[in-house]
Amino acid sequence: MFADLRRITAKIAERFKRRFYGRTFNCPVCHFELAVVDAGSNRLLVCPVCGVVIDIEEVYGHAVPVVLEVELYRPQPKARIHPLATHVPIGLYPFAVLGAVLLAAGSLARPFLPAVEPLLARAPMIADATLVLLVLSVGLSILTFASGLWDWNRRYRRRSYRQIRLKIAFSILFLVLGGLAIALHASGAAFSPASGLIDLGSPASIVLAIVELALLSAGMAVIATLGHVGGTLVFGK
Ligand SMILES: [Zn+2]
Repeated sequence: MFADLRRITAKIAERFKRRFYGRTFNCPVCHFELAVVDAGSNRLLVCPVCGVVIDIEEVYGHAVPVVLEVELYRPQPKARIHPLATHVPIGLYPFAVLGAVLLAAGSLARPFLPAVEPLLARAPMIADATLVLLVLSVGLSILTFASGLWDWNRRYRRRSYRQIRLKIAFSILFLVLGGLAIALHASGAAFSPASGLIDLGSPASIVLAIVELALLSAGMAVIATLGHVGGTLVFGK
């Protein structure tokens, strides 16, 4: 089953990548996958991973990368703030999602399983903890985003890379999705502040809880993509 799931995910990711990256080629030195379009009009491109300067030759419709040079004096920051700062949102956000999922599961189980009632006494605490985790992960992701932009500015000299464009777009998307989820959770319209649970008697509460879970799930996919693409920029392909 996991093999099937991986195949489906890989297929979706590949289609998304083709559309967003266009034609790609692999760096001849580190094998990192780069987009041809990033070379610009002079056909030159610096590999963000290994730092070689590549000239892209068009040979019978194939993009053939030729290594010309190595960027020797690339800034190497001593304090790598961005890789450190990524751990705050990536570490905390899944627990916020888990909190909301537990609250939704508790709300649904309540009418059918009276045995869960004593456990549900802790639901308001879980609802509060979920909000704290959401605020910390989304709030501190601004630091992650800013340090990533700083690195792009300094280390990669603001060069065009599809990977960086994707990361900027997804970072903004994460802030928007996270901000909406925080507003919805804090309003108490989805999960009641008194019980911490979804009010199953109110259709508005059910719909808003579904919206909050959808926002959190979308945020999870976005943050996983950000982490994955960031990892390729550090470790290569
Ligand atoms: Zn390379």
